[in-house]
Amino acid sequence: MKVFDDKNSTIVAPAVPAGSSALSVLRLSGPLSRKIAENVFSKDVIVARRANMGVYRCISGKVADTCVWIFYEGPKSYTGEDMLEISCHGNPFIIQRIRKDLLRRGCVDAGPGEFTKRAFLNGKMNLTQAEAVANIISAQSERAFDASMRLLSGELGRKICDWENEILDIIADVELHIDFSEEEVPLADFDSVRARIVRLKEKLSECADGAKYESKIHDGINVAVVGAPNAGKSSLLNALVGSERAIVSPVAGTTRDFICEKISIEGYSINIIDTAGIREESFSEVENEGIKRTYSWIKKSDLVVWVKDASIPEKEIPEVLKEALGSKNVLLVENKNDLPPCPSMSLFFCRFKSVSLSALSADAGNILRNSILKIIKSANIVPESDVLIVSARHAELMEKACCLLDEAVHITGTLPAEFVSLKLREALVALAEILGKFDNEKVLDRIFSKFCIGK
Ligand code: GDP
Repeated sequence: MKVFDDKNSTIVAPAVPAGSSALSVLRLSGPLSRKIAENVFSKDVIVARRANMGVYRCISGKVADTCVWIFYEGPKSYTGEDMLEISCHGNPFIIQRIRKDLLRRGCVDAGPGEFTKRAFLNGKMNLTQAEAVANIISAQSERAFDASMRLLSGELGRKICDWENEILDIIADVELHIDFSEEEVPLADFDSVRARIVRLKEKLSECADGAKYESKIHDGINVAVVGAPNAGKSSLLNALVGSERAIVSPVAGTTRDFICEKISIEGYSINIIDTAGIREESFSEVENEGIKRTYSWIKKSDLVVWVKDASIPEKEIPEVLKEALGSKNVLLVENKNDLPPCPSMSLFFCRFKSVSLSALSADAGNILRNSILKIIKSANIVPESDVLIVSARHAELMEKACCLLDEAVHITGTLPAEFVSLKLREALVALAEILGKFDNEKVLDRIFSKFCIGK
């Protein structure tokens, strides 16, 4: 494990975002923490983990604020080092005065995620848990938060530990055969080794599968609102968002570019995308470009809400649109049910779930939200909570381990046991990398650079 080049430095950062607030917190981590607490607050005896009140006096003699401070003695701290947390009033001038004073006292500014990076390097958490900390801070929905909490609890770490133990057991059995010639090893043994590796591989694959939900949970489920011009798409977006976000106009072709708004439905983060109306006889270059983007959103979306003006005859659906929608989850909205209906439904849309409403009615938002939620659940767009959401990085390494396990299966019984053992050991390395057991500074930099300062 690579140790911090500057592990003797004491880092400082505000732990809350910039701006005014009732309170703010600055945190320090490193060997100067205790001395700074003694000097700044004129305290001879420091008791760890006790809240103290004291006047923050700068080196210049100026008073910064009256603060509440807590000293944590390493290794019993978040980072595993001595730490000091100073709560002051949430005025940016106070925070800057204290920060500058701490720099004069020998501290250095912390980089993004540096507190958590130190916690990881000091063995306070594994890499998946450190990643979960960043996700918890940035979670934009309850679902994303719950998924991150599961990672933070070490669930993935425990799974990986079990898999590692299983591989070690198999290696032990395989290596027993190294001292024997192939003829002496009964065939049944090879069969059982192969079967055990295959079972393990299935568990890894199943877990890696959880990564396909990562962006839907953390970045949001994409729901594209699509239909002919004037069908009422922008009105529906406004009903969903609960404000006049998009321009609503009786003039066809008003929405030329897409509008994306984030909403939350039962803890799911959802990106609602209002798109340019699709029509074949478009009148301008700009509108054509808008329609092109609509098709691209259909492709990227997890659910297409097709809005139809149910008061007018439906136009022929172009083949290219049928093709684009063919493999999609589609919800048909028969809008404008406050007007006399025109009972013409293209056969193409008959197969999809539908809802009839008026975008102008007060309950349109709720009706549409419920219909969207039903499809998210029934089409399993994101799974119910029993699936562990792993990241693309975790999945990549699990898949690498799977490939190595596959190779091990293929050579078991045909090549000497040393080769099988080697493949299994390589799979162990891939799994250990998920937890950050191996030094890989580039990976660490990539992960921790996504953090905010102060965490
Ligand atoms: P878009 O082009 O599909 O985005 O459609 P808009 O939301 O801009 O609506 C086009 C026109 O239809 C506007 O004049 C809206 O007020 C009207 N409209 C939208 N929804 C309804 C509805 O449910 N009933 C009625 N009567 N008019 C609607």
